[in-house]
Amino acid sequence: MSPIHAVPCPRCGMQVAWSSENKYRPFCGERCKMIDLGQWATEAYRVPQAEPADPGEQNPETPS
Ligand SMILES: [Zn+2]
Repeated sequence: MSPIHAVPCPRCGMQVAWSSENKYRPFCGERCKMIDLGQWATEAYRVPQAEPADPGEQNPETPS
């Protein structure tokens, strides 16, 4: 009854049928899903957990 809902793959933009049969949704397939997950992991490593205050900003008095 309900029309098939299609979503564009976040990686390649291909229209993907959003169904319970598609276990890679919203990706078009395993490849795009793995690529995207890989990028997430890479970015997670790049983001520091807690960055200390930049010492260069704490400059109450400039020695003259
Ligand atoms: Zn794709």
